[in-house]
Amino acid sequence: MASPEIENLASALARLPGLGPRSARRAVLWLVKHRQTALAQLVEALQVVERRLVECATCGNVDTTDPCSICADPRRDAKAICVVEEVADLWALDRAKLFNGKFHVLGGRLSALDGVRPEDLAIDRLLARVEAGGVDEVVLAMNATLEGQTTAHYLAERLEQFPVRITQLAHGLPVGGELDYLDEGTLAQALRARRPLT
Ligand SMILES: [Zn+2]
Repeated sequence: MASPEIENLASALARLPGLGPRSARRAVLWLVKHRQTALAQLVEALQVVERRLVECATCGNVDTTDPCSICADPRRDAKAICVVEEVADLWALDRAKLFNGKFHVLGGRLSALDGVRPEDLAIDRLLARVEAGGVDEVVLAMNATLEGQTTAHYLAERLEQFPVRITQLAHGLPVGGELDYLDEGTLAQALRARRPLT
């Protein structure tokens, strides 16, 4: 029905999470209809992000600056570091606006099944940040999955050598739950009730 170019756009959009082929087609139609306003704006926004996207060398966040806006923010408490598995978890926790410290993205979780070893994650970079000093608390905010908890315990062992308090999210988190999918209230509750990791 449509030209290959329009089909191309529809199939690119269909690959976005939460969009299937039908919604993608609807989005394309909407963009065609609003090409003067919304389409130009979308193209511009995509280009800017595409040009400027970088990974923060300190925490692993993805932003348009390095250090990222969180690492560079002087109002944030550098004495507390919240460790998460993925950038999506960092964004979810940051949206909840209850943690005013810094973050650290591991880039995954330990998994014997998927062959993910400690050296595959940003663990050395975390230890270096703690070793550099000025950190009082490390919050281990892994997912409440078996692999997430294995990772948390591994990190707790590695962090034992430093004079820092190690805490963990309270598990009002649903078992098997992924942080990214929780509502902000549940996340806020879990963060507020964080407890020492034993
Ligand atoms: Zn950063």
